[in-house]
Amino acid sequence: MIGPKAYIQEWENKSYEELLEEKKRLNQKIEEYENHPEESSEVTISPSLDVRYQCNLEYMAELCSLIAKKYQTRTTEESKKEDTSVFTSYVGMNCAEIKNLITEKTNLLKDKLDGKIDDNEKSNSGYLFWNCKTILRNIYMSYDKLTSKFKEELSSEELVTFTKKSNIIKEKESQWKTMDDIRETFDLLVHENEEDNSNLLKCPNCHRRLMFMMSTGNTLYCSQCNKYYRNNNGSVGEETSSPYTEKDALY
Ligand SMILES: [Zn+2]
Repeated sequence: MIGPKAYIQEWENKSYEELLEEKKRLNQKIEEYENHPEESSEVTISPSLDVRYQCNLEYMAELCSLIAKKYQTRTTEESKKEDTSVFTSYVGMNCAEIKNLITEKTNLLKDKLDGKIDDNEKSNSGYLFWNCKTILRNIYMSYDKLTSKFKEELSSEELVTFTKKSNIIKEKESQWKTMDDIRETFDLLVHENEEDNSNLLKCPNCHRRLMFMMSTGNTLYCSQCNKYYRNNNGSVGEETSSPYTEKDALY
């Protein structure tokens, strides 16, 4: 048998749960001896059963103090995890860190909407709903912080987008009743940029932004290609001729 210090070294990197299993196993051996100490004199093995018993008690002492240590770090890690998983304070964070926080929270919310939820959320849909609301509020407050305190560090595009996104959450918050409402707000948030892009009509030839011809509004113009396109209710239609007539050119 090995010494208690050598014994415990083998267990130092094991999980709390694994240590509990070992404690159970060790305890069985200890109790076997305690329940039938008389058997020990009948069997000749080396080391003898009473030496094994004393060793196991010393192993147990080491094991229990390791379990106590593991338990403590485990509970502090879990409480940290619980506090920050849905709501993270941005106090002391700089502009880039808050932007990262928003990305993290948006991904976390996406995961939850995609069904990647923990056991508590599985067994209690109200808990899932509460967590999702908290994440959205965290995102809102982060955008709010960025557009107030860090206004100078944002590009004008960012300032517009972030303000829009924080307004979406603010406006929708009072309507959150079910997970469907959460999903709707989330969709509005993530598609906000795409909608902006789709509103920009692009030249089918060179993909540059088209200009609206103010004379009719129904014709789009690419200054790069010098081509005209029909405006079909906000989408780019077939190529057409200049909306200007000779008369326009004259005056
Ligand atoms: Zn073009």
